[in-house]
Amino acid sequence: MKKENCIFCKIANGEIPSQTLYEDKHFRIILDLGPATRGHALVLPKEHAENLFELSEAAAGEAFILAKKTAAKIKEKLGCDGLNLVQNNGETAGQTVPHFHIHIIPRYKDDGQNINWVPGRPSQEELEAVRRQITE
Ligand code: 5GP
Ligand code: ZN
Repeated sequence: MKKENCIFCKIANGEIPSQTLYEDKHFRIILDLGPATRGHALVLPKEHAENLFELSEAAAGEAFILAKKTAAKIKEKLGCDGLNLVQNNGETAGQTVPHFHIHIIPRYKDDGQNINWVPGRPSQEELEAVRRQITE
């Protein structure tokens, strides 16, 4: 199902034009309009899911396989030195468009981007508590 007024539903389903790298029955892969680096692409399912939690397992599987294939093609054609896959869920995590997407971000030496976090320094007890909270 498409969602009214969802920009990525419109782009994925071809109602708004985009620079499309790939399209099939369920997905469209486009160039990001505000790219972090040259070749920054987005994997968009045609069916609306707001985020990873709403996405079906079947769509998740397909999306990550397409991300892998597209990453390989971008590496081959653009000659990037590295590549990040980024997938944001929720405003707190930096999601600005509430339609699931995977960022494919080619990286070049000295590209000036910084897709990183500040590492924490938890004790073994804290790590143990987190593991228990997740698994028990
Ligand atoms: P998020 O922050 O939700 O993970 O990523 C949203 C991404 O969508 C951003 O990188 C932004 O540049 C891109 N974006 C937003 N609107 C459009 C659009 O209309 N067309 C394209 N191609 N990309 C868009
Ligand atoms: Zn949508």
